[in-house]
Amino acid sequence: MANELRKDYILDRWVVVASHRRRRPTDFMGSWREEKKAAVCPFCPGNEHLTPPASLIYFMEDCELKKDYDRNGDRRKNWIVRCIPNLYPAFSPQVSKATSNLQTNSILVSKEALGHHEVLIESPNHDEHPSVARIAQLTHVINALKDRVLFFMSREYVKYVSIFRNHGANAGASLSHAHSQIIATPILPKIIEEENIESKKYYAKNKHCVFCRIIEMETKSERFIWGNNGFIVFAPWASINPFEFWIFPKRHQSSILELTEDETRDLAEALRVSLGGLRVLLGDPPYNLGFHMIPEKHYHWHIEVYPKLAIWAGFEKSTGMYINTVPPEEAARDLSVVFEMEKKALSRTV
Ligand code: AMP
Ligand code: ZN
Ligand code: ZN
Repeated sequence: MANELRKDYILDRWVVVASHRRRRPTDFMGSWREEKKAAVCPFCPGNEHLTPPASLIYFMEDCELKKDYDRNGDRRKNWIVRCIPNLYPAFSPQVSKATSNLQTNSILVSKEALGHHEVLIESPNHDEHPSVARIAQLTHVINALKDRVLFFMSREYVKYVSIFRNHGANAGASLSHAHSQIIATPILPKIIEEENIESKKYYAKNKHCVFCRIIEMETKSERFIWGNNGFIVFAPWASINPFEFWIFPKRHQSSILELTEDETRDLAEALRVSLGGLRVLLGDPPYNLGFHMIPEKHYHWHIEVYPKLAIWAGFEKSTGMYINTVPPEEAARDLSVVFEMEKKALSRTV
């Protein structure tokens, strides 16, 4: 049966009821400092048959980068980036015949969780996470994300494409092989909707983008952490997580589809330096990150990184209001030191 999207009785809050996802495997055991690998990793080279056929593969042939996908039940080997449908999807493209059991009256609202859910295997090397990855490899990852986002955004029923990454069991990851996920949803998620409405209002009133203004302010603030030609990293003014940071393209653009080749490389470096710095500062902590992108002229896409160092408890869960014990200015001070160290170490290797 297809998964079900249910809306809260009165709040604009949606949940995907996806019971089959309980069956997904995990190779994490114990706490995040004691992660153990499973005997068989479905994302490692040689185990391609353990996953659905790839929707996109990057590989090298005659010293050239080529793209393909798995067909006729075969699984292509020697890939450098591999994108696959999630075996336990939260959203799927099949239209269910059993839609009659979906409740819909003014209080019990639900609809089919129509969309896509894919995993992007970021490297054939199990441990090549962005914090330690080669810049060239991260560039392939970003380009593959662009390819899949373009595909999903062109589907009529897709209202939003979310790219995210879970790192470490305590941040919700179930497999330790370096990977990101892409979920295409039939509704605009609440936070994105709110950012969309507010940034549109600001644009209409001020004739410029609110995020461009934020970048201008934070570049000169004590929350500034690091930057290169194309990107700026800062700790946001009202961070809700200790050591949270955001990565913004300096040039106004609404999604990763507008990245130039130079900016793609700059983004790869920004990811490597910032996630590498986080790893050095806090000993490879669990974290989540998410891309925010809306293809509208008033919107400015960006990445938000949420280290998972605190546990949201009763107050946070029951009110949606947060307590952060690390002021963003203090986080920025510590992070800027390690980011600079990472950049220097990186310069020595290339
Ligand atoms: P995470 O839970 O963030 O580590 O992401 C791993 C994802 O991989 C989960 O959403 C799983 O549903 C998915 N998954 C697990 N095993 C497979 C597999 N063999 N093929 C495709 N996807 C898988
Ligand atoms: Zn692996
Ligand atoms: Zn902007």
